[in-house]
Amino acid sequence: MCIICVEFQSKKLSPAEVLKNISEMKDTIGEEHAKEIVKMLFSDAIRESRKSKSDSESDEDWNFRSD
Ligand SMILES: [Zn+2]
Repeated sequence: MCIICVEFQSKKLSPAEVLKNISEMKDTIGEEHAKEIVKMLFSDAIRESRKSKSDSESDEDWNFRSD
């Protein structure tokens, strides 16, 4: 966790702003954590797109059903 994660999770930064901050603060947060944040952005974007597609589905329904 760093200032970028905190700001993003409290919706103060858009994904584009987060990416900009990552490139500016890479030396401070470290390359490994920079990757973590990008991963977080992706999973958040996926979650958001799933949410807007079907509001009725719960967050627990993350995995694809195998039948
Ligand atoms: Zn962080």
